[in-house]
Amino acid sequence: MTVLPEKIRFHLEETGCFVLMTHLHPDGDALGSLLALADVLEGMGKQVFRYLEEPVSDLYRFMPGSELVCTDLSDLADFVAAAHGDVAAVALDCGDDDRLGREKDRLLTIKPLMVIDHHRGHRKFGDFCWVDPDRSSTGEMIYEIVEELQVNLTSAAAFNLYVAIVTDTGSFRYENTTSRTMRIVAELLDLGVRPEEACGHLYDNYSLQRLRLMEQVLATLELHAGEQLATIRLTPAILDSCGASAGDAEGFINYPRSLRTVKVAVLFKENGDAGGSVSMRAKGECDVAQVAALFGGGGHRNAAGFRYEGNNHAKLRADLQAALQAFLSQDSEAE
Ligand code: 5GP
Ligand code: MN
Repeated sequence: MTVLPEKIRFHLEETGCFVLMTHLHPDGDALGSLLALADVLEGMGKQVFRYLEEPVSDLYRFMPGSELVCTDLSDLADFVAAAHGDVAAVALDCGDDDRLGREKDRLLTIKPLMVIDHHRGHRKFGDFCWVDPDRSSTGEMIYEIVEELQVNLTSAAAFNLYVAIVTDTGSFRYENTTSRTMRIVAELLDLGVRPEEACGHLYDNYSLQRLRLMEQVLATLELHAGEQLATIRLTPAILDSCGASAGDAEGFINYPRSLRTVKVAVLFKENGDAGGSVSMRAKGECDVAQVAALFGGGGHRNAAGFRYEGNNHAKLRADLQAALQAFLSQDSEAE
């Protein structure tokens, strides 16, 4: 049932040194799968470099092993040089090589590059890929690797895989939650993971700045398309007024999505002249990855996004609203 490509299995078993990487602004699945795979590989006697472009955000510092993440490019170069060719890279949860971040070109020189991902709109990159859009999370795929290679899963790695899966399934609520997901989670609980511990860190651990930020961001709520489309906005002025950082807005999009009438929720994160990014969440059959693709992004059917350049935020908002309105009217005709 697991279709771990033979080449990936071979390199995981035979290579001595690994550079692990994921997408920029990593979420629980990105970090959880990276940290868990790092542990697993170390347990197999390998050396591992856990690379991230930026330090782990405060929200995820509770994850065991997050303190071992390294952002230093000269340390990375030294690690690769010391491997004397016995090295491989693994990109986790990354649907598109542009999402590797600003050091993409440098990272892509580490070969072979294995790619393990579950994004439906995955744009192929790397040398050996295992991409399975029917998986709830990359964390679930790492669990399959552990089973396939018959290696040990430490309690720290089990905890990180739990965080990965709980994050990407919206706490087991999204349609990507399968019976296999639940069976894997049962195994993780048997290894000692305590759901209330992981979820306490994830969901009951807000700073006051984050709550103030939520107040202001929710105050920007707009409804369109007969209340099927809800948008919220985050601007530098709002961030400044609460002393918060953009990472504090993680998860806010679930509030407009939770409205009864809403089919698509959008969070605009605007960043002055530095452009911005857009997160979309949908329900059921509504495929926002298609809309994200029109704007150069991608993602999953019910969770997608894109980034954009320039400071014409108002035009971007209007263009996306028009695209989503057209999309939602097609959708209701189809019903
Ligand atoms: P989020 O809204 O949490 O930033 O992203 C939700 C999903 O949308 C991610 O898991 C990712 O698949 C996708 N996504 C977000 N931003 C981008 C982007 O700039 N490019 C691509 N290809 N996908 C994105
Ligand atoms: Mn994921």
